[in-house]
Amino acid sequence: MSAESVERTVERLREQGIDVVRVGYPDLIGTERGKDVLLERLPDILHSGVAFCQAVYYTSPQGDTVPVPGGLDRGLPDVSIRPDLTTLVELPWEPGVAHVLGDAYDPATGLPFLESPRTVLAAAAARLTDLGLTAIAGPELEYYLLEPAAAGTGSAAANGTGWQRYDDALGNVYVTGRKGDRGSHVLRTLRTLRALNIGATMGNHEFSGGQFEINLHHSDALDAADRAFRFKTAIKELARHDGLMATFMAKPFDDEGGSGFHVHLSCLDAAGRNVFAADADGDGDGRAYGLSATALHAIGGVLAHAPALAALLNPTINSYKRFGPDTLAPWLNDWGLDNRSAMLRIPPERGAGSRLEVRLGDASANPYLGIAGLLAAVYLGIRDRIQPPAPLEGYGYDATKAPVLPMSLPAALDAFEADSELIEVLGKEFAAAYLAYKRDEVQRFSRTVTDWEFREYAYHL
Ligand code: GLU
Ligand code: MG
Ligand code: MG
Repeated sequence: MSAESVERTVERLREQGIDVVRVGYPDLIGTERGKDVLLERLPDILHSGVAFCQAVYYTSPQGDTVPVPGGLDRGLPDVSIRPDLTTLVELPWEPGVAHVLGDAYDPATGLPFLESPRTVLAAAAARLTDLGLTAIAGPELEYYLLEPAAAGTGSAAANGTGWQRYDDALGNVYVTGRKGDRGSHVLRTLRTLRALNIGATMGNHEFSGGQFEINLHHSDALDAADRAFRFKTAIKELARHDGLMATFMAKPFDDEGGSGFHVHLSCLDAAGRNVFAADADGDGDGRAYGLSATALHAIGGVLAHAPALAALLNPTINSYKRFGPDTLAPWLNDWGLDNRSAMLRIPPERGAGSRLEVRLGDASANPYLGIAGLLAAVYLGIRDRIQPPAPLEGYGYDATKAPVLPMSLPAALDAFEADSELIEVLGKEFAAAYLAYKRDEVQRFSRTVTDWEFREYAYHL
């Protein structure tokens, strides 16, 4: 960006009443790190970045400090965040503040930081660009609202946390037309998100009381991930303003549905045509399903790499409690035509609307890494012309029909580590950092005595 245009940007923001720019960095686990910077410093940080130590996460109320590569073993060095001005938006709930997302660089070399999730996604998208394709993604996110445990009459408090499921008076009714939510949460949130301009178009009550879903419009993959990331931060922030807590954890309650991160995917050619549409290619493999051969290969790629993808799309210990029969979350590695019990559903629209809906991910996924993994799998599927098995018919939760997905984080991490093709696309540095962080998480969990163990064993044994 030229010096003039930076000056113009600063001027325009000042005219709009902005005096602070919040520079956000989506980190490895998908939380936002960043700094507030006075507007007059924007030209400097566009040039040299905002530096901070990236490598330490505080993950528990006990203040566990978790070193990852580049962390304590290297003396906790800085990363430098350079704002991407194309992502600049005003924050409707924080007058005077504009928000911008940034890419991480190594301050010593000035080179892109290869563990940065935005960089990983850009690299995966670039591989599809090499094939002449632009990846389009449409994220859907589900989440629960929680309220302070003393205030409501809802379900039992989430043990000892002080929070319980938000009692929205709607109960367990999917897409209910009744608007009994006493805080008009979806309505107010949709309006605020419109001002944030992130393409949040529709919202509904999900299956479980206190659970909601908001859909984001589709767009090119990096923009879609930026919007999904911003959406999660915004929902948490807006809930906090209402005295509530929003959680995107995969399965907050034993006996209620989990929260999914479904991703709709398609690819456009240079002329903007959807190459998953049946008439996009001549060889006709996919015609039986109203799709192109390329779409079938993309499906084949996602299925072939799904065990490894789980490590990115289902990134926590808790994620695997969402999987299972009769949940509307997946359990088997399969695909189906408009079949919600399949891991990968082909929605009924065809022609320009032809797309994959990958239902594997849960809401705790880092949107950048989840989408990056999917693009890498789609790329490999198209490059290697991977043929998927026949689609699922009817009831999908029958383990004689398809392989079961990894059912624990360690199993998914093993599958990821073994998937050298996927890692080659996503980057070895990223994979090493991610695996180190997640293996450490598994280790910490294995040393933790849970409430269930205490209830199960303390009294009887
Ligand atoms: N909550 C389900 C999941 O975890 C999805 C329900 C739906 O189809 O909307 O993926
Ligand atoms: Mg849903
Ligand atoms: Mg969906």
